Amino acid sequence: MDEKYFAKKIEAKWQKIWSDSGAFAAEIVNDKPKFYQLEMLPYPSGNLHMGHVRNYSVGDAIAWYKRLKGFNVLHPIGWDSFGQPAEDAAVKRGVNPRDWTEENIKAMRGQLERLGLSYDWGRQMFAHRPDYYKFDQWFFLKMYDMGLAYKKLTQVNWCETDQATLSNEQASGGLCWRCGNPVTKKDLEQWFLKTTAYADELIDGLDELESGWPQHVIKRQRDWIGKSVGAFIDFSLAQGEHEQIKVFTTRIDTIFGVNSIVLAAEHPIVDQYIESFSEAVQAKIEELRQEKLKPTDREVEIEKDGIDTGMKAVNPFSGEEVPVWVGNYVMMEYGTGAVMSVPGHDERDFEFASKFGLPIRRVIVDPGADPVEPDESVEAAHYQKGVLVQSGDWTGLSSEQAITVMTAHARAQGFGEAAKTYRLRDWGISRQRFWGSPIPIIYCDECGTVPEKFENLPVELPENASITGTGESPLAKVPEFYEAECPKCGGAARRETDTMDTFVDSSWYFFRYTDHDNE
Ligand SMILES: [Zn+2]
Ligand SMILES: [Zn+2]
Repeated sequence: MDEKYFAKKIEAKWQKIWSDSGAFAAEIVNDKPKFYQLEMLPYPSGNLHMGHVRNYSVGDAIAWYKRLKGFNVLHPIGWDSFGQPAEDAAVKRGVNPRDWTEENIKAMRGQLERLGLSYDWGRQMFAHRPDYYKFDQWFFLKMYDMGLAYKKLTQVNWCETDQATLSNEQASGGLCWRCGNPVTKKDLEQWFLKTTAYADELIDGLDELESGWPQHVIKRQRDWIGKSVGAFIDFSLAQGEHEQIKVFTTRIDTIFGVNSIVLAAEHPIVDQYIESFSEAVQAKIEELRQEKLKPTDREVEIEKDGIDTGMKAVNPFSGEEVPVWVGNYVMMEYGTGAVMSVPGHDERDFEFASKFGLPIRRVIVDPGADPVEPDESVEAAHYQKGVLVQSGDWTGLSSEQAITVMTAHARAQGFGEAAKTYRLRDWGISRQRFWGSPIPIIYCDECGTVPEKFENLPVELPENASITGTGESPLAKVPEFYEAECPKCGGAARRETDTMDTFVDSSWYFFRYTDHDNE
């Protein structure tokens, strides 16, 4: 035995023995208790960095501990190998993204092995290989069949420099996460997965995490789903033919305090009536729309801005006519794109009303408080629940009682109903990229949008494509790829040329390790 520890010699010897004997392969059938030690899969960028080493050493220590405690341990690793860096390399250095990726994987696997990490290498998954992304497509078709995958025209975050669409997270602060340049908006037809169908399930699932996860992480997740329980209420336009503006509110008990309706600049009613507005109003609305196209930092409050359109809407509870404004703090993407402004009881509305000198009325007071004079000035928004005042037949009720009975009244009268809204959006998965899983959809002039047949999966990427980084899908220039036969009528048709967001790959890889050779 050597008297010193010669790392290269000893480690190489044992690493070979481990590898030859399959020392870390999980056993398929045995009576030991099972333990699944999972670490996030790396992106094959070329080299490991110390963050990888730190993360994977922690996981390895746990895997070893469990193994020595007698568990049958599954400790796999794989590669999140689709994505933009491979395409960037193709643009900058003219390399084939596939070759670049495979070489990086080889180099990084060597590094992981030299670190002595105890992986079950036999279960590796590679997101960019057809045997893996076939199942991205399989899931997509299943979701399509269930109505959970659909296509719609949307405004996307767009980086002019990278010529790429970005998720909200990738455009946070209004700046591109890759290049740091300002993000703009662009209209595109995109495929979506209906994550919102699972909003309640996602919230309920958080209860299971209560004991093991930090509270602030759970709270962030809850806020991200952003469930609001309230009601839809229809305000009729004073002019027009029974036109209505639907608002969502969590505080129907404050409806006698409404001083205006505020619409998003993109609201359909605005489009419909814009010709009837004065030139000054039209110009202001155009300005507000342009402002919205500029990058915004969602963390920073923008200064409230808006304009009175001159239209009036009728409060269905009080019969009162209130002005219809367009405001920059109302988003078409959230709720209904229209809010009832209650400055006495909502801080944002208070700020807006104060800035534009709109009337502010108090309709909720603390229990036992002095009655309110109708013209009493209101110094600040009072958002707590309490007892209704100046609220017609509902005066004297508590907020909780009022919410129940006023919602029921709205429903009985046909101008409203109980409703839930979420901040969570459906997931836009289309990317105008080469290096991703092709979306298994075919467009036929006769049959319209037709899903690829399951037996034709995987829809394979071509060997290469001309990747210029100019924003168009590279696959749209590869006839061998996009020329397809319609699965329905057999006629000539065209394949979807967008690929899936790489987060599709990394949203199910941990299942693949358990079933890695399933074809
Ligand atoms: Zn960029
Ligand atoms: Zn057809």
